[in-house]
Amino acid sequence: MAGARRHGSVPGEIYSVPTSYPFRDGLSGEEAAEHTIDYITTHIGATEIAAFFVEPIQGDGGIVIPAPGYFARIAEFCAENGIVFVADEIQAGIGRTGTWYSIEHHGVVPDLVTSAKGIAGGFPLAAVTGRAEIMDAVQPGGIGGTFGGNPVSTAAALATLEAIESEGLLVEAQRVERALTARIGDWAERFDLVGEVRGKGAMFGVELVLPGTRTPNPEALTSVIRYAAERGVLVLDAGSWDSVLRFLPSVVISEALIDDAASVIEEAFAAL
Ligand SMILES: *Cc1c(COP(=O)(O)O)cnc(C)c1O
Repeated sequence: MAGARRHGSVPGEIYSVPTSYPFRDGLSGEEAAEHTIDYITTHIGATEIAAFFVEPIQGDGGIVIPAPGYFARIAEFCAENGIVFVADEIQAGIGRTGTWYSIEHHGVVPDLVTSAKGIAGGFPLAAVTGRAEIMDAVQPGGIGGTFGGNPVSTAAALATLEAIESEGLLVEAQRVERALTARIGDWAERFDLVGEVRGKGAMFGVELVLPGTRTPNPEALTSVIRYAAERGVLVLDAGSWDSVLRFLPSVVISEALIDDAASVIEEAFAAL
C-alpha cells in the first residue's frame, strides 16, 4: 500500500502523525507516544485537534501492532486536551483478532469506534459506536446517508453478531492465533528474508526484508504472492513499503489448511 497514487490531495486540516511501529522504530510504547505527542504539539497544537483516528492494529499499513503502553498514553493525552479518541476497527474489529475489538488488547476504551467489513458478513454496512454524550450531540437523523440502516444489511449484522457469540468465534480466532504462531512463528529465525512475524487472532503479517537488514523487500513479496497464487494460496500485500505478507484467513480455518498454505509460502521463500 505504498503511498496513495493519483488520489489527489486530502482536505486541509487532516494530519498524519508518526505512531508506534516496534519493528521499525525500536521504541517502547511510552517513547513512541511521546514522539507522537511531540509531533502534535510542535506541528499542529494540541488545542487545534478535534479527533485522533487510529487503527489499534493496522491492516493495510502492514499488521502493525503498537507497543504496549502506547495507546494508554495517547488516550490520556487526548482526554487531557479534549481530543476525541477514535479507534478505526473496520479491519481488525468484530472478532478478527480474538476480541470483539482490537483496542481491547491495549486496555483502552476509545470515545468512538468505527466498524464495517466483518460486521454484516459481507453485506454493506458501517457503524459508528460511541459514548452517548458524543452520539447524542446531534439531533436524531442529524447524520445520515442514502444507505444508512439498510434493513437487509442490519438483519445480516444481527445474524453475524449472534453467530460470533453462539459459535464461539472469538475463541476460534484465538485458536487460529495459536495455530499460526506454532506453524509460522519461527519464520524470522528460519528465513533470512523474513524480518518479523506478528499478529493477533486471525490477522498476521510477515514483514519481508533484504537479508541481514531491516530494509523492506517489496520485490520478494511480489514474487511470493505470485508463486502462492499460482498454487491456490491467496495472500494480500500490505505495509507502507509493500513488503508485508498479510494473512487474514477465516476464523474457522482448519489447522490442516494453515499448514498447506504455510508450506506453499515456505516453498516460495526457498524458490527465491
Ligand atoms: C476498509 C477500511 C476502511 C474503509 O471502510 P469503508 O467502510 O469502506 O469506508 C477504513 N479503515 C480501515 C482500517 C479499513 O480496513
